[in-house]
Amino acid sequence: MINSSRPDARRNASPYLYGQEAAAVAQVLESGQYGHTGVTEEFERGIAAFLGVDDAVAVSSGTAALHIALLVAGIGPGDEVIVPSQTFCATVQAIVACGASPRFVEVSPDTLCVESGAVLEAITPATRAVMPVLYGGRAVDLTAAAEVLGERGITVIEDAAHAFGSSLGTRLVGSTGALTCFSFGPIKNLTCIEGGAIVPRTSQEAGVARRLRTLGITQSQAERGRTTTYAVAGFGLRATLSSVHAAVGSVQLEQFPIAAAKRKALWLAYEAELHGMRNVVLVDVDVDHSVPFNCVVRVPERNRVHATLHAQGIGVGVHYPPNHTQPAFAPWHRPLPVTEMVGEEIMSLPFHPAMDSGDVHSVVSALERALNTVRETQPKASR
Ligand SMILES: *Cc1c(COP(=O)(O)O)cnc(C)c1O
Repeated sequence: MINSSRPDARRNASPYLYGQEAAAVAQVLESGQYGHTGVTEEFERGIAAFLGVDDAVAVSSGTAALHIALLVAGIGPGDEVIVPSQTFCATVQAIVACGASPRFVEVSPDTLCVESGAVLEAITPATRAVMPVLYGGRAVDLTAAAEVLGERGITVIEDAAHAFGSSLGTRLVGSTGALTCFSFGPIKNLTCIEGGAIVPRTSQEAGVARRLRTLGITQSQAERGRTTTYAVAGFGLRATLSSVHAAVGSVQLEQFPIAAAKRKALWLAYEAELHGMRNVVLVDVDVDHSVPFNCVVRVPERNRVHATLHAQGIGVGVHYPPNHTQPAFAPWHRPLPVTEMVGEEIMSLPFHPAMDSGDVHSVVSALERALNTVRETQPKASR
Protein backbone atom coordinates (compact mmCIF):
# COMPACT_ATOMS: atom_id res chain seq x y z
CA MET A 1 0.00 0.00 0.00
CA ILE A 2 2.61 2.51 1.10
CA ASN A 3 5.72 2.52 -1.01
CA SER A 4 8.24 5.34 -1.19
CA SER A 5 11.66 6.21 0.14
CA ARG A 6 10.63 9.28 2.10
CA PRO A 7 9.71 8.50 5.71
CA ASP A 8 5.99 7.75 5.59
CA ALA A 9 3.30 6.00 7.62
CA ARG A 10 5.51 2.95 8.07
CA ARG A 11 7.35 5.07 10.63
CA ASN A 12 5.60 6.00 13.85
CA ALA A 13 7.93 8.96 14.25
CA SER A 14 10.92 10.24 12.35
CA PRO A 15 13.43 13.08 12.55
CA TYR A 16 12.72 15.85 10.09
CA LEU A 17 15.86 17.36 8.58
CA TYR A 18 15.84 20.46 6.39
CA GLY A 19 19.03 19.65 4.47
CA GLN A 20 21.46 22.24 5.85
CA GLU A 21 22.27 20.11 8.90
CA ALA A 22 24.89 18.06 7.04
CA ALA A 23 26.91 21.15 6.07
CA ALA A 24 26.68 22.51 9.61
CA VAL A 25 27.96 19.21 11.02
CA ALA A 26 30.76 19.07 8.44
CA GLN A 27 31.86 22.56 9.40
CA VAL A 28 32.10 21.58 13.07
CA LEU A 29 33.94 18.35 12.24
CA GLU A 30 36.49 20.34 10.25
CA SER A 31 36.92 22.78 13.13
CA GLY A 32 38.34 19.95 15.27
CA GLN A 33 36.47 20.99 18.43
CA TYR A 34 33.66 18.66 19.34
CA GLY A 35 32.92 19.26 23.00
CA HIS A 36 30.99 22.08 24.58
CA THR A 37 32.17 25.05 22.47
CA GLY A 38 31.05 28.41 21.22
CA VAL A 39 28.78 26.52 18.81
CA THR A 40 26.95 25.08 21.83
CA GLU A 41 26.71 28.52 23.41
CA GLU A 42 25.36 29.99 20.19
CA PHE A 43 22.65 27.31 20.26
CA GLU A 44 21.84 28.22 23.87
CA ARG A 45 21.46 31.88 22.92
CA GLY A 46 19.28 30.87 19.98
CA ILE A 47 16.94 28.85 22.20
CA ALA A 48 16.73 31.68 24.75
CA ALA A 49 16.00 34.23 22.01
CA PHE A 50 13.32 32.01 20.46
CA LEU A 51 11.62 31.62 23.83
CA GLY A 52 12.13 35.27 24.79
CA VAL A 53 13.91 34.37 28.04
CA ASP A 54 17.24 35.43 29.56
CA ASP A 55 19.00 32.11 29.40
CA ALA A 56 18.84 28.45 28.42
CA VAL A 57 21.27 25.72 29.50
CA ALA A 58 22.00 23.12 26.84
CA VAL A 59 22.57 19.55 27.98
CA SER A 60 23.16 16.15 26.43
CA SER A 61 19.57 14.86 26.62
CA GLY A 62 16.09 15.55 27.87
CA THR A 63 16.65 13.03 30.65
CA ALA A 64 19.75 14.93 31.77
CA ALA A 65 17.73 18.16 31.65
CA LEU A 66 15.12 16.65 34.01
CA HIS A 67 17.74 15.20 36.34
CA ILE A 68 19.68 18.47 36.54
CA ALA A 69 16.53 20.61 36.94
CA LEU A 70 15.46 18.44 39.88
CA LEU A 71 18.91 18.87 41.46
CA VAL A 72 18.78 22.62 40.80
CA ALA A 73 15.47 22.67 42.71
CA GLY A 74 17.21 20.92 45.60
CA ILE A 75 15.34 17.62 45.24
CA GLY A 76 16.99 14.69 46.99
CA PRO A 77 16.46 11.66 49.23
CA GLY A 78 13.27 11.81 51.32
CA ASP A 79 11.57 14.20 48.92
CA GLU A 80 8.46 13.36 46.93
CA VAL A 81 7.88 14.51 43.39
CA ILE A 82 4.34 14.41 42.01
CA VAL A 83 4.42 12.99 38.48
CA PRO A 84 1.87 11.43 36.14
CA SER A 85 2.32 7.71 35.62
CA GLN A 86 1.38 8.36 31.99
CA THR A 87 4.77 9.48 30.68
CA PHE A 88 7.98 8.15 29.20
CA CYS A 89 9.96 6.24 31.83
CA ALA A 90 12.73 8.86 31.55
CA THR A 91 10.67 11.30 33.62
CA VAL A 92 10.48 8.84 36.49
CA GLN A 93 14.08 7.68 36.19
CA ALA A 94 15.23 11.29 36.57
CA ILE A 95 13.31 11.53 39.86
CA VAL A 96 14.69 8.23 41.10
CA ALA A 97 18.21 9.27 40.06
CA CYS A 98 18.00 12.11 42.61
CA GLY A 99 17.12 9.63 45.35
CA ALA A 100 13.63 11.12 45.52
CA SER A 101 10.30 9.26 45.42
CA PRO A 102 7.87 9.59 42.54
CA ARG A 103 4.31 10.12 43.72
CA PHE A 104 2.27 8.90 40.76
CA VAL A 105 -0.94 10.69 39.86
CA GLU A 106 -3.76 10.31 37.36
CA VAL A 107 -4.11 12.22 34.12
CA SER A 108 -7.21 13.44 32.35
CA PRO A 109 -8.31 10.72 29.91
CA ASP A 110 -9.12 13.49 27.38
CA THR A 111 -5.66 15.08 27.29
CA LEU A 112 -3.34 12.59 29.05
CA CYS A 113 -2.11 15.56 31.10
CA VAL A 114 -2.27 16.15 34.85
CA GLU A 115 -4.74 18.67 36.23
CA SER A 116 -4.55 20.87 39.31
CA GLY A 117 -7.05 18.78 41.29
CA ALA A 118 -5.00 15.60 41.02
CA VAL A 119 -1.85 17.49 41.96
CA LEU A 120 -3.45 19.07 45.05
CA GLU A 121 -4.83 15.73 46.22
CA ALA A 122 -1.41 14.09 45.96
CA ILE A 123 0.43 16.60 48.14
CA THR A 124 1.96 15.15 51.31
CA PRO A 125 4.29 16.74 53.87
CA ALA A 126 7.20 15.31 51.84
CA THR A 127 6.18 16.87 48.51
CA ARG A 128 8.91 19.15 47.17
CA ALA A 129 8.19 19.28 43.44
CA VAL A 130 5.60 18.62 40.77
CA MET A 131 6.67 17.43 37.35
CA PRO A 132 3.83 17.92 34.89
CA VAL A 133 4.37 16.25 31.52
CA LEU A 134 3.25 18.33 28.56
CA TYR A 135 1.89 15.26 26.82
CA GLY A 136 1.76 15.46 23.04
CA GLY A 137 2.90 19.07 23.21
CA ARG A 138 -0.07 20.31 25.22
CA ALA A 139 0.76 22.97 27.83
CA VAL A 140 -0.33 22.13 31.37
CA ASP A 141 -2.06 24.88 33.31
CA LEU A 142 -1.59 24.49 37.07
CA THR A 143 -2.82 28.00 37.90
CA ALA A 144 -5.54 26.59 40.17
CA ALA A 145 -2.87 24.87 42.28
CA ALA A 146 -0.29 27.66 42.12
CA GLU A 147 -1.16 29.32 45.41
CA VAL A 148 -0.97 26.11 47.45
CA LEU A 149 2.21 25.02 45.68
CA GLY A 150 3.77 28.42 46.34
CA GLU A 151 2.83 28.44 50.03
CA ARG A 152 4.37 25.02 50.53
CA GLY A 153 7.51 25.79 48.55
CA ILE A 154 6.73 23.11 45.97
CA THR A 155 8.63 23.70 42.72
CA VAL A 156 7.02 23.09 39.35
CA ILE A 157 9.47 21.49 36.92
CA GLU A 158 7.92 20.97 33.51
CA ASP A 159 8.77 17.94 31.41
CA ALA A 160 8.30 19.77 28.12
CA ALA A 161 10.10 17.09 26.09
CA HIS A 162 7.11 17.02 23.69
CA ALA A 163 6.31 20.68 23.77
CA PHE A 164 9.00 22.78 22.13
CA GLY A 165 7.16 25.58 20.30
CA SER A 166 3.85 25.15 22.16
CA SER A 167 2.19 27.88 24.19
CA LEU A 168 0.24 28.29 27.41
CA GLY A 169 -2.22 30.97 26.37
CA THR A 170 -0.03 33.58 24.70
CA ARG A 171 3.24 32.58 26.40
CA LEU A 172 5.60 30.04 24.88
CA VAL A 173 6.28 26.96 26.98
CA GLY A 174 9.63 27.73 28.61
CA SER A 175 8.76 31.39 29.12
CA THR A 176 5.98 30.92 31.66
CA GLY A 177 8.20 31.19 34.72
CA ALA A 178 8.36 27.45 35.41
CA LEU A 179 11.65 25.60 35.48
CA THR A 180 11.31 23.93 32.08
CA CYS A 181 13.04 20.96 30.46
CA PHE A 182 13.14 20.23 26.74
CA SER A 183 14.38 17.18 24.87
CA PHE A 184 16.03 17.55 21.49
CA GLY A 185 16.25 13.79 20.93
CA PRO A 186 15.89 12.13 17.51
CA ILE A 187 12.12 12.35 17.12
CA LYS A 188 11.28 15.46 19.11
CA ASN A 189 9.77 18.63 17.58
CA LEU A 190 13.29 20.03 17.28
CA THR A 191 16.20 17.60 17.12
CA CYS A 192 19.90 17.89 17.92
CA ILE A 193 20.03 14.10 17.19
CA GLU A 194 20.54 13.90 20.96
CA GLY A 195 20.23 16.85 23.28
CA GLY A 196 18.14 18.83 25.69
CA ALA A 197 17.86 22.14 27.49
CA ILE A 198 16.83 23.61 30.82
CA VAL A 199 15.22 27.02 31.11
CA PRO A 200 16.32 28.27 34.55
CA ARG A 201 14.23 30.76 36.55
CA THR A 202 17.18 32.83 37.77
CA SER A 203 20.80 33.45 36.85
CA GLN A 204 21.73 31.64 40.05
CA GLU A 205 19.84 28.53 38.85
CA ALA A 206 21.55 28.84 35.48
CA GLY A 207 24.93 28.78 37.19
CA VAL A 208 24.08 25.70 39.23
CA ALA A 209 22.73 23.91 36.15
CA ARG A 210 25.91 24.70 34.20
CA ARG A 211 28.05 23.36 37.03
CA LEU A 212 25.95 20.20 37.32
CA ARG A 213 26.21 19.45 33.60
CA THR A 214 30.02 19.79 33.73
CA LEU A 215 31.07 17.37 36.48
CA GLY A 216 30.67 20.00 39.18
CA ILE A 217 33.41 22.20 37.74
CA THR A 218 32.74 25.87 38.42
CA GLN A 219 34.86 27.48 35.69
CA SER A 220 33.43 27.89 32.21
CA GLN A 221 35.08 26.15 29.29
CA ALA A 222 36.62 29.47 28.22
CA GLU A 223 38.02 30.18 31.70
CA ARG A 224 39.57 26.73 31.91
CA GLY A 225 41.52 27.42 28.76
CA ARG A 226 43.23 30.37 30.45
CA THR A 227 44.18 28.88 33.82
CA THR A 228 46.21 26.04 35.27
CA THR A 229 43.55 24.59 37.55
CA TYR A 230 39.84 24.32 38.14
CA ALA A 231 37.53 23.88 41.12
CA VAL A 232 35.18 20.94 41.54
CA ALA A 233 32.59 22.47 43.79
CA GLY A 234 30.23 19.53 44.25
CA PHE A 235 28.36 16.70 42.64
CA GLY A 236 28.20 16.84 38.88
CA LEU A 237 27.15 14.90 35.84
CA ARG A 238 28.82 14.67 32.47
CA ALA A 239 25.99 16.09 30.42
CA THR A 240 27.34 18.78 28.14
CA LEU A 241 25.97 19.20 24.62
CA SER A 242 28.58 18.62 21.93
CA SER A 243 29.17 21.22 19.27
CA VAL A 244 28.22 18.65 16.62
CA HIS A 245 24.77 18.23 18.13
CA ALA A 246 24.40 21.94 18.79
CA ALA A 247 25.14 22.70 15.14
CA VAL A 248 22.26 20.46 14.09
CA GLY A 249 20.05 22.17 16.66
CA SER A 250 20.85 25.67 15.39
CA VAL A 251 19.81 24.72 11.86
CA GLN A 252 16.65 23.11 13.22
CA LEU A 253 15.86 26.22 15.22
CA GLU A 254 16.25 28.51 12.23
CA GLN A 255 13.83 26.36 10.20
CA PHE A 256 11.54 25.47 13.09
CA PRO A 257 8.44 27.31 11.78
CA ILE A 258 8.35 24.79 8.93
CA ALA A 259 8.15 21.72 11.19
CA ALA A 260 5.72 23.53 13.47
CA ALA A 261 3.35 24.26 10.58
CA LYS A 262 3.63 20.72 9.20
CA ARG A 263 2.91 19.17 12.60
CA LYS A 264 -0.14 21.35 13.14
CA ALA A 265 -1.47 20.63 9.63
CA LEU A 266 -0.90 16.90 10.06
CA TRP A 267 -2.73 16.80 13.38
CA LEU A 268 -5.64 18.77 11.87
CA ALA A 269 -5.74 16.36 8.93
CA TYR A 270 -6.05 13.44 11.36
CA GLU A 271 -8.74 15.27 13.31
CA ALA A 272 -10.76 15.85 10.14
CA GLU A 273 -10.35 12.25 8.94
CA LEU A 274 -11.23 10.79 12.34
CA HIS A 275 -14.23 13.05 12.86
CA GLY A 276 -17.35 11.07 13.66
CA MET A 277 -15.62 7.68 13.52
CA ARG A 278 -17.17 5.19 15.90
CA ASN A 279 -15.10 3.82 18.76
CA VAL A 280 -12.26 6.28 18.31
CA VAL A 281 -11.48 9.07 20.76
CA LEU A 282 -8.77 11.49 19.67
CA VAL A 283 -6.64 12.70 22.58
CA ASP A 284 -6.93 16.50 22.52
CA VAL A 285 -3.62 18.28 22.13
CA ASP A 286 -5.10 21.84 22.03
CA VAL A 287 -3.77 22.26 18.52
CA ASP A 288 -4.37 26.02 18.40
CA HIS A 289 -1.72 26.49 21.08
CA SER A 290 0.51 23.50 20.40
CA VAL A 291 3.12 22.16 18.10
CA PRO A 292 1.79 18.59 18.28
CA PHE A 293 4.38 15.93 19.01
CA ASN A 294 2.15 12.97 18.27
CA CYS A 295 -1.40 11.93 17.43
CA VAL A 296 -2.94 9.57 19.95
CA VAL A 297 -6.29 7.82 19.80
CA ARG A 298 -8.09 5.69 22.33
CA VAL A 299 -9.65 2.57 20.86
CA PRO A 300 -11.30 -0.60 22.21
CA GLU A 301 -9.33 -3.84 21.82
CA ARG A 302 -6.20 -1.75 21.40
CA ASN A 303 -3.78 -4.68 21.31
CA ARG A 304 -5.67 -6.40 18.49
CA VAL A 305 -6.10 -3.17 16.54
CA HIS A 306 -2.39 -2.46 17.00
CA ALA A 307 -1.46 -5.94 15.78
CA THR A 308 -3.73 -5.65 12.74
CA LEU A 309 -2.26 -2.30 11.69
CA HIS A 310 1.28 -3.38 12.49
CA ALA A 311 0.82 -6.43 10.23
CA GLN A 312 -0.07 -4.01 7.41
CA GLY A 313 3.18 -2.15 7.88
CA ILE A 314 1.61 0.87 9.56
CA GLY A 315 3.84 2.39 12.22
CA VAL A 316 1.51 2.44 15.20
CA GLY A 317 2.92 2.69 18.70
CA VAL A 318 1.97 3.06 22.34
CA HIS A 319 3.18 6.09 24.28
CA TYR A 320 3.38 5.05 26.99
CA PRO A 321 2.83 1.93 29.08
CA PRO A 322 2.10 3.31 32.57
CA ASN A 323 5.03 3.63 34.94
CA HIS A 324 3.38 2.83 38.26
CA THR A 325 3.05 -0.81 37.16
CA GLN A 326 6.68 -1.12 36.00
CA PRO A 327 8.84 -3.42 38.11
CA ALA A 328 11.46 -0.70 38.59
CA PHE A 329 8.92 1.59 40.19
CA ALA A 330 7.08 -1.00 42.30
CA PRO A 331 8.08 0.69 45.59
CA TRP A 332 5.96 3.69 44.59
CA HIS A 333 2.98 1.83 43.13
CA ARG A 334 -0.47 3.05 43.99
CA PRO A 335 -3.70 2.14 42.22
CA LEU A 336 -4.48 4.54 39.36
CA PRO A 337 -7.64 3.21 37.70
CA VAL A 338 -7.93 5.94 35.05
CA THR A 339 -4.32 5.56 33.94
CA GLU A 340 -4.66 1.77 33.91
CA MET A 341 -7.79 1.97 31.73
CA VAL A 342 -6.36 4.57 29.37
CA GLY A 343 -3.07 2.68 29.23
CA GLU A 344 -4.91 -0.20 27.54
CA GLU A 345 -6.67 2.06 25.04
CA ILE A 346 -4.06 4.48 23.76
CA MET A 347 -2.38 4.05 20.40
CA SER A 348 -0.10 6.55 18.69
CA LEU A 349 -0.74 6.89 14.96
CA PRO A 350 2.19 7.51 12.59
CA PHE A 351 3.09 11.17 13.02
CA HIS A 352 6.05 13.12 11.66
CA PRO A 353 6.47 16.14 9.40
CA ALA A 354 7.42 14.18 6.26
CA MET A 355 3.94 12.62 6.16
CA ASP A 356 1.22 14.11 3.98
CA SER A 357 -2.56 14.05 3.91
CA GLY A 358 -2.48 10.97 1.67
CA ASP A 359 -0.60 9.08 4.37
CA VAL A 360 -3.13 10.25 6.95
CA HIS A 361 -5.98 9.06 4.76
CA SER A 362 -4.48 5.58 4.36
CA VAL A 363 -3.78 5.26 8.08
CA VAL A 364 -7.30 6.29 9.04
CA SER A 365 -8.88 4.00 6.43
CA ALA A 366 -6.81 1.11 7.73
CA LEU A 367 -7.79 1.99 11.29
CA GLU A 368 -11.46 1.99 10.37
CA ARG A 369 -11.14 -1.43 8.70
CA ALA A 370 -9.19 -2.79 11.65
CA LEU A 371 -11.82 -1.60 14.12
CA ASN A 372 -14.57 -3.22 12.03
CA THR A 373 -12.68 -6.50 11.77
CA VAL A 374 -11.96 -6.56 15.47
CA ARG A 375 -15.62 -5.89 16.23
CA GLU A 376 -16.84 -8.66 13.90
CA THR A 377 -14.44 -11.23 15.28
CA GLN A 378 -14.95 -10.18 18.89
CA PRO A 379 -15.44 -13.21 21.09
CA LYS A 380 -19.05 -13.37 22.37
CA ALA A 381 -19.33 -11.86 25.81
CA SER A 382 -18.43 -14.77 28.05
CA ARG A 383 -19.02 -13.28 31.44
C1 LIG B 1 11.91 12.04 25.10
C2 LIG B 1 11.34 12.25 26.45
C3 LIG B 1 12.14 12.41 27.58
C4 LIG B 1 13.62 12.20 27.59
O1 LIG B 1 14.32 12.92 26.63
P1 LIG B 1 15.67 12.28 26.02
O2 LIG B 1 16.22 13.38 25.19
O3 LIG B 1 15.26 11.08 25.22
O4 LIG B 1 16.54 11.91 27.16
C5 LIG B 1 11.53 12.71 28.78
N1 LIG B 1 10.20 12.80 28.88
C6 LIG B 1 9.39 12.62 27.82
C7 LIG B 1 7.91 12.76 28.02
C8 LIG B 1 9.93 12.31 26.58
O5 LIG B 1 9.13 12.10 25.55
